[in-house]
Amino acid sequence: MALGCGAGGSTVLYGAALERLTRSDFSPGRQVSDKGQSELPDHWPISYDDLSPYYQEMERLFNVCGTPDPLDADDSNHLAPPPPLGPRDQHLFDSFEALKLNPYRQHVAIDFIPGCQQCMGRICTRNCKRDARNTLFEPALRAGASAILECDVMRFESDAGKVTSVVIKKDGVEKVISAKQYILAAGALFSPALLLKSANNFWPNGLANNNDQVGRCLMFHGNNLIAIWPLRNHDSSGPKKSLCFKNFYFVDGCKYGTVQAMGIEAGRSAIYDFLDTKRQELGVPKLPLLWIPLKIIARIAEKIFGPAKVFAGILEDFPYTENQVMIDYDAPSGIHIRYQLSDELKKRTQRFRHMITNAVKPHRTMLIDRSIGLNYGHATGTCRFGSDPETSVLDKDNRAWGLNNLIVVDASFFPSSGGINPSLTIGANALRVADKLVSRLKNPTI
Ligand SMILES: Cc1cc2nc3c(=O)[nH]c(=O)nc-3n(C[C@H](O)[C@H](O)[C@H](O)COP(=O)(O)OP(=O)(O)OC[C@H]3O[C@@H](n4cnc5c(N)ncnc54)[C@H](O)[C@@H]3O)c2cc1C
Repeated sequence: MALGCGAGGSTVLYGAALERLTRSDFSPGRQVSDKGQSELPDHWPISYDDLSPYYQEMERLFNVCGTPDPLDADDSNHLAPPPPLGPRDQHLFDSFEALKLNPYRQHVAIDFIPGCQQCMGRICTRNCKRDARNTLFEPALRAGASAILECDVMRFESDAGKVTSVVIKKDGVEKVISAKQYILAAGALFSPALLLKSANNFWPNGLANNNDQVGRCLMFHGNNLIAIWPLRNHDSSGPKKSLCFKNFYFVDGCKYGTVQAMGIEAGRSAIYDFLDTKRQELGVPKLPLLWIPLKIIARIAEKIFGPAKVFAGILEDFPYTENQVMIDYDAPSGIHIRYQLSDELKKRTQRFRHMITNAVKPHRTMLIDRSIGLNYGHATGTCRFGSDPETSVLDKDNRAWGLNNLIVVDASFFPSSGGINPSLTIGANALRVADKLVSRLKNPTI
């Protein structure tokens, strides 16, 4: 699974699309006409307005550029002007508008400095792509914070009401560290694993897990890759992560998601990587000469795709209790993921794909992968925040229920996944929680 590790986490690899959730995402269960057997909550425990100033702060810190979404009245964000579109993308933008779609310039944390390589899925070595390492972690170090690098957090130790220490392993040696406050941010897959691994006499099912909620309601996004051809051939230079539209975010009482430029052209090496990932997903072994047919297929596919632009339809995934992260001491990662594609997700996927391809006619389109795919980089849920300890792991300020000095701030807090990239919300929420923590440290009676 292509997740980043170390300072900056997965954001050092990410595509830098930093978009807000919409206001309706904060009351998802109330919006949809049929949430089926899912645990889609009626409300998040905070509102859009609670997060809005922190969205602005994140957009400012990450120098997010783009244009407001014409369909979202709340999208009054702090956006820097984006660089001009290249000829093909301008053509697509104009054509989508003529087709009564509402495209806008995708919100991205890329400075587009001269020679920018638009490093999607890889580390940007020139700090042109802003990520959590160069924009948050390194400035914190310069301001006096310290970090222990290249170590594994093994478990927390606790009593009945608070964490007492954390055990880390560095160079094969375990070390115990104590603090007043503990902040866990190991991501939606590994934060729950750490809580579960920290089971003790006070918390026999794992920390904050008296109600068997830790690890549950794991969500990914539905992944829908669609190539769209321009009506005429145009030069495809210019910013790649360029266009977005949300016309199918919420249709007839049903939640779908965003359509956005993937930021990677369907060139030979991208197609080869895609095929190789599929090989791994299907469990086909890496036979010695397999690269030869893969390269040939990639070469043919590159010719077929020619000037097409690849869009990703990011489909909201609903929370189900049985989709979960569990610990598995025999697995190299230490976790086991149990995830079942629901029938309603399969149906929404088909409808979403149909709506997109229909809406852009007369453009030629091709679904790059017909199977129902998930975006494993967008894991959320597993330590959901909420107002009721029976159905959540964290309170509304991301404090673990029952452990008053443990905060979890990463993608695991999402009670529903929304139909948009998660990182801006993860960051904005972390800033909000940090403010709450500072107020509480100044005034412990809060
Ligand atoms: C290829 C790719 C492209 C993406 N593109 C976008 C995008 O364009 N826009 C967007 O919004 N999102 C994107 N995402 C998703 C985004 O990167 C994640 O949602 C986000 O980074 C999750 O943040 P997090 O803090 O929850 O976890 P992470 O970023 O995964 O950070 C968790 C950190 O904890 C560390 N860790 C875990 N367990 C332990 C342990 N036991 N001991 C020590 N350290 C530990 C990990 O090494 C990692 O550094 C993308 C993801 C990928 C993989």
